[in-house]
Amino acid sequence: MTGLLSDDGPAAPPKSLPLVFSAPRRGVPPRHWADLTPMQRREFMEAAGHRAFRARQLSAHYFEGLRDDPAQWTDLPSGVRDVLAEKFMPPLLTSVRELRCDDDTTIKTLWRLHDGALVESVLMRYPDRVTMCVSSQAGCGMACPFCATGQGGLQRNMSTAEIVEQVMDGARKLARGQIAGGPGVEEAENVARVSNVVFMGMGEPLANYKAVIGAVRQLTAPRPDGLGMSARGITVSTVGLVPRMQQLAAEGLPVTLALSLHAPDDELRDELVPINTRWNVDEVVDAAWEYARVTKRRVSIEYILIRDMNDQAHRADLLAKVLRRRGSWGWVHVNLIPLNPTPGSKWTASRRRDEDEFVRRLQAKGVPVTVRDTRGREIDGACGQLAALDE
Ligand code: SAH
Repeated sequence: MTGLLSDDGPAAPPKSLPLVFSAPRRGVPPRHWADLTPMQRREFMEAAGHRAFRARQLSAHYFEGLRDDPAQWTDLPSGVRDVLAEKFMPPLLTSVRELRCDDDTTIKTLWRLHDGALVESVLMRYPDRVTMCVSSQAGCGMACPFCATGQGGLQRNMSTAEIVEQVMDGARKLARGQIAGGPGVEEAENVARVSNVVFMGMGEPLANYKAVIGAVRQLTAPRPDGLGMSARGITVSTVGLVPRMQQLAAEGLPVTLALSLHAPDDELRDELVPINTRWNVDEVVDAAWEYARVTKRRVSIEYILIRDMNDQAHRADLLAKVLRRRGSWGWVHVNLIPLNPTPGSKWTASRRRDEDEFVRRLQAKGVPVTVRDTRGREIDGACGQLAALDE
C-alpha cells in the first residue's frame, strides 16, 4: 500500500508544491555584530573610527554579559555606546507574541523580522539542560505535506545574526530568570546556559547552508568571541540534502546530524518527504552513515509516526534493516515523533499499541530508539506547528 489510504478512507491528495532550493533575494537584513568574524569586528570597528580593542569589549558585553542595552556598557565612553549599538546591533527580531506552557518551562516566541517575515523559536528548560529550537528560514521550500511550515512555502533565508539572535534571546531570558524551572537555591551559582540548540524550527537548515554554518561558528566560538557552546550540543536537522550532508561532514564541526527519514521505502518517502525524488532512501541513509563514520558522531534518524501511513510493523522491520545494513557499531539512533496534526490534515498520530509495537520491533533488532517528548503542544510550539496560526 502506498500510504494513501487511512482509517477514514482516502486521505486528502498530497499537495504537490514545487521544491524550492534558492530563496528569493529579498529582505536582506541589516548587518549585525553576530554576522562578523572576530577579525572583521576589529576591522569594522576601526573603519568606523574607533579603537580596535573596542571590538573585544563589545563582544564581551554581547556574548558573555548578555547585555544588549548600551546603557550597561559602562567600560565604553558614554558618547560611543549608542553609536556602536546603532551601527553594530540593529534590532533584528521583534517579539510579536510569547506563549508559555509546561509550567512556564517552555516559551514559544513569534518574531517579526525587519521586512515583516514571521518566524518562531522555542526555549525549553529541563532539569539538566536548556534547549533552544531555532528557525533557519522564513518558511520552507521542502513542501513536506504533514508540516505546516512546508505547506506555506519559502519566503526567505535568514541571516547568521537572525539565527544567533534567537539563541541570544533564550540566553538572556535564562540569565534574567525569565523562564521557570531553574535549579534549587543551593545551585544558584550555576548560572543557567543554553546547552542545546536544535535547528528544528522553521526552514531547511542545509538549504541555507552558509548562514547556518556561520551561526554554528558564532555559537561555538569561545567567549567572548562567541557564545562558547559545545558543537555536540547543536543538532542540525535535515530532510536529506545529500551534497550538503557531505559538505557538513567535511566541515570539521562535530555537530549532531538529524535526518528526517519518516519512511524506509522510496514509494512512501516520495510522498512524505518530496525531496526523496531527488535523493532517495538509500542515498540519504548512506550520507547519514558517512557522516557518522567521518565525524564519529551518532546520527539521529527522525521518524514521525502517522497512523496507518508509516507506522506498520513491516515498516519498522524494514527501517531496522535499512539502518542495520550499514553496520551495528552504534552509528545511529531512532527518534520517533508522534505526528502533530496540522490544521485541516487528515493524518493523525499513531495508536498507542502501534507505536509500542514499532518501538519493540526496532529494539528487537538492536536499533536504539526513543519516543520524542512533545513539549509545547498546547501552544502549537511542537514540531511542524510553528507560525502556522499567524498566517
Ligand atoms: N527541515 C528540517 C528541520 C525542520 S523540521 C527537517 O525537516 O528536518 C524539524 C522536525 O520536525 C523534522 O523531523 C520534521 O519532519 C518534523 N515535523 C514537521 N512537521 C511535523 C508535524 N506536524 N508533526 C511532527 N513532526 C513534524
